[in-house]
Amino acid sequence: MFRAFNLDSRMLKSRSFLATAGVMALGLASCGGQDAAVEEPVAVESTEVVVTSSCSPLSVVTGFYPLQFIAERVGSDQTSVSVLAGPGVEAHDLELTPSQAAEVTDADVVVFLPTFMPSLDEAVVELNSSVGLDAMAGLTLLEGEAHDDDHGHSHDHDHDGDEGHSDKKSTDDEMIVDPHVWLDPTNVSVIGKTLANKLSELDPACSAIYADNSQALTDEMTALDSEMKTALANCKIKTMVVSHEAFGYLANRYGLEQVGISGLTPEAEPSPKRLAEVAKISKSDGVTTVYYETLVSPVVAETLAKELNIKAEKLDPIESKPEGADLIAQMRANLATLVGGQDCG
Ligand SMILES: [Zn+2]
Repeated sequence: MFRAFNLDSRMLKSRSFLATAGVMALGLASCGGQDAAVEEPVAVESTEVVVTSSCSPLSVVTGFYPLQFIAERVGSDQTSVSVLAGPGVEAHDLELTPSQAAEVTDADVVVFLPTFMPSLDEAVVELNSSVGLDAMAGLTLLEGEAHDDDHGHSHDHDHDGDEGHSDKKSTDDEMIVDPHVWLDPTNVSVIGKTLANKLSELDPACSAIYADNSQALTDEMTALDSEMKTALANCKIKTMVVSHEAFGYLANRYGLEQVGISGLTPEAEPSPKRLAEVAKISKSDGVTTVYYETLVSPVVAETLAKELNIKAEKLDPIESKPEGADLIAQMRANLATLVGGQDCG
């Protein structure tokens, strides 16, 4: 509810700034303190500022868009949320600038997904351990495959779509955790709960608000999950060919099988060997659509589509803020694309 202060997260941390802004008069002095008196929320409305007396303003720094979305939903007006990889930035590759590093250092909470953005992982190590929030906590993680030419692994083509099936089989010993957890809506709910718990620890007076916000997010994600489950239940084509392997959790949850031209991070040039492998799988599995994505050049996917005489369609891994949509709206748009591309109608 400190919209007017969102302009500068540093100011949010300064009680003296709040005092000089004249907010003390609204009862903020008891904020987060030991005051045992029963306190009615004192709300003063003006055109821009609404202040609830019982909440501490917290600053939350997030690595990239899905984490920003979750933090904004769960923290709502009680927190100032910022994102390191802004719109249009390829988040995997982000290197923190000195001012971003300072922002991370000053934050009350830093939400990160280990391995997704290595520069943020490194910055979090430097922080007091209570500041970093591992967004993978409590999730069932999948392993990704490293598509490295030195390792001639065969793509395991196992069509079992069991839910909760937590590891992909592979003959390759070079396995790493797949960080693209947010494309399974149930994971978004879990991250929301983890963050609500964290914010409640730091700001117990507002814990009911964080819990309510997190429950509202869970309700939306539960609805989206059942929508996706229904829409993808009868897809004739189970193999989904994507430009980089961002869709493992989605595929795992809804009984599809992801085949990536590139591995877990978007690479500029996939090897000819990998392209030949993907072409072979696409042919044998009757794939009709190759998916390319927002922030990676579509050339490779389009070339493959042309070679196989099939379609190339955009499927957004939502690693950056989608234009004109939020996480949920873009997941719905992705669903519509998948229903066509995987022949689920
Ligand atoms: Zn990715």
